[in-house]
Amino acid sequence: MRFHVVTLFPEMFDSYLGGSILGRAIKEKKISVSFVNPRKFVTGKYRKVWPDGNVSLQVDERPYAGGPGMVMMAEPVIKAVESVLKKIKNYELRIKNGKVKTKQQTPKSKALIINFIPSAEKFTTAVAKSISKKYTDVILICGRYEGIDARVDKILKTKKYSIGDYVLTGGEIPAMVLIDSVSRQIDGVLGNFDSREEERVSTSEIYTRPEVLIYKNKKYKVPKVLLSGNHKDIEDWKSLTKSVK
Ligand code: SAM
Repeated sequence: MRFHVVTLFPEMFDSYLGGSILGRAIKEKKISVSFVNPRKFVTGKYRKVWPDGNVSLQVDERPYAGGPGMVMMAEPVIKAVESVLKKIKNYELRIKNGKVKTKQQTPKSKALIINFIPSAEKFTTAVAKSISKKYTDVILICGRYEGIDARVDKILKTKKYSIGDYVLTGGEIPAMVLIDSVSRQIDGVLGNFDSREEERVSTSEIYTRPEVLIYKNKKYKVPKVLLSGNHKDIEDWKSLTKSVK
């Protein structure tokens, strides 16, 4: 699975993708994550060269009909996504011609373009599973400011997702949520295959050593059923606290 993130702030992803399970998945080429900054595609009056040689690349503009904040303009975002689509096509050709060899090479790519909108359909584990099975490439558009000009969705036929009923300052955290959640559905990403929800009864209430935890003179015990060795009873108990349906 290849993730392509369209963001004004690619550096925000460094620490999250650098460590632990996702860091290992990238190293082992189970997934890849690349970035494209819409600022690269700013042209005309929005590209200003100052007398000191500094260049400012403006990607936002005032909203029509007024309102608070600024809106990301459509053109730099569309061009950034087009550059990714071109890269995917080239990659497909290189695989076809035997020029690149990867473990899970897929000569025919299938790309999904996602835009994050707080009020859109909820992103869930079921959606993550479906994306991991259907697509080779996922393009994630991260909005900033008051969001992105709505024509981007019409032109690029994006799929829109929300990660929850709250408003964040940008789409970078939603993109990381999606990358994480889709990646753990890909074979070999989780060290232990059984860690995936569909392979076990996943529970939100889990315990480890010690059997009796003493905190401020009070004893907190592990539920007896988990120590019983009775697999049926344990599975029944876990079903009651199942975390993901
Ligand atoms: N004006 C927008 C609205 O009322 O829906 C809010 C824009 S928000 C400040 C900026 C960006 O953050 C959005 O374009 C989106 O990419 C992202 N974002 C914020 N909250 C989100 C959520 N719950 N789910 C997905 N994306 C979110």
